[in-house]
Amino acid sequence: MGIKPLFVIHSEDAFADEILTNNDIKDKVIVNYKEIYKKLDWLKQICKTKDIDFLIFSRNDQVKDRINIGGITKRLKLGYTTVSSLEDDNFEKNTSSMLADLLNMAAKSSKDARTESNPKKIGESKTFSLIFDTEQLGCIKFGVPRLLDVLKKHKIKATFFMTNLVRQIYPEIAAHVVSEGHEIGLHGEYHEFLQEKTKDEQAQKISRMISDIGKITNVHGANFIGRFDEGTLNGMIDNNLEYFVFDAIKKYRYFGYRTAATEPLITKQSHSGRSILAIPIDVETYNYPLGLVKKMVQTSIAQKEKNNSTGQHITILMHPFRDGSLNHIKDTEQLIEFISNLGFKPSRIVDYSSALVKNNLKSLDRSVLQ
Ligand SMILES: [Zn+2]
Repeated sequence: MGIKPLFVIHSEDAFADEILTNNDIKDKVIVNYKEIYKKLDWLKQICKTKDIDFLIFSRNDQVKDRINIGGITKRLKLGYTTVSSLEDDNFEKNTSSMLADLLNMAAKSSKDARTESNPKKIGESKTFSLIFDTEQLGCIKFGVPRLLDVLKKHKIKATFFMTNLVRQIYPEIAAHVVSEGHEIGLHGEYHEFLQEKTKDEQAQKISRMISDIGKITNVHGANFIGRFDEGTLNGMIDNNLEYFVFDAIKKYRYFGYRTAATEPLITKQSHSGRSILAIPIDVETYNYPLGLVKKMVQTSIAQKEKNNSTGQHITILMHPFRDGSLNHIKDTEQLIEFISNLGFKPSRIVDYSSALVKNNLKSLDRSVLQ
């Protein structure tokens, strides 16, 4: 991929430092994560001097001291992944294994297991999509296989937004996701901040992401929430993507109805007239206990009942590094049972968006951008 990482190792993870030293990895820093927010300028300077594209953390914010990694990457505007185990138990063993996987990445090869999307009519029906952001190594190595089991048990086809980096490190798992009938969409080459790049760079990047994921499945959409701008939109349209997801969650996390758009929107390029669908995410599980997530689902449904122009569809954003961890996998299953019991049927985002385009384009036509 031609990207340059910097390993950011927590000072308590001496084993990780040792592995890097044994592999002659010099682009690394050891820092006490408890003090990392005080050292952001220092870290930024190192990244600038070394021309770093993304960060690799030895821990994520679900284990041990729970340091907020997202805040660091947002402030530094850099891509990231982690080699963190998902649980405290076996932390060193699991984390070491993923660090080894990362270092061995080049030796692995990807399988070709193409599947076609199969659009179904949605119309009046009640449907839901589970989407999974997949960018950490523990996320794909441990979280995704557990989630695949749960999804299989409940006969659910879902959408995984996956960075090219983790796909290349774990090609067998990515191919397994596809062979189970799930969709894979774009999530960045290495979770980078696209809005930092020029329009041309973004279009080229998106094209590279597509040709990489395209080795195993057809690509239809993307999730670049918080990391994209107008140039990204143009790049997605120029690369013939059909949809992207956007965040419509915050307005009604706790109570009440929101006033922001909760329906899909069409985003058009003024110079070409070509468009891409913007699909709202209604609910996310991250940081919320199951009871609150269920409430978000109910509030969402109530809102959809009020403005029922495209049938009822709920999109739920999940993270395998959390929702696939041993701490949360039971909640994940209970959430699936909860929404299924409400009469909602699972749908990948690609199937939902194709059905929208087929059945309902006119009622959607309220262009938003450019
Ligand atoms: Zn992400």
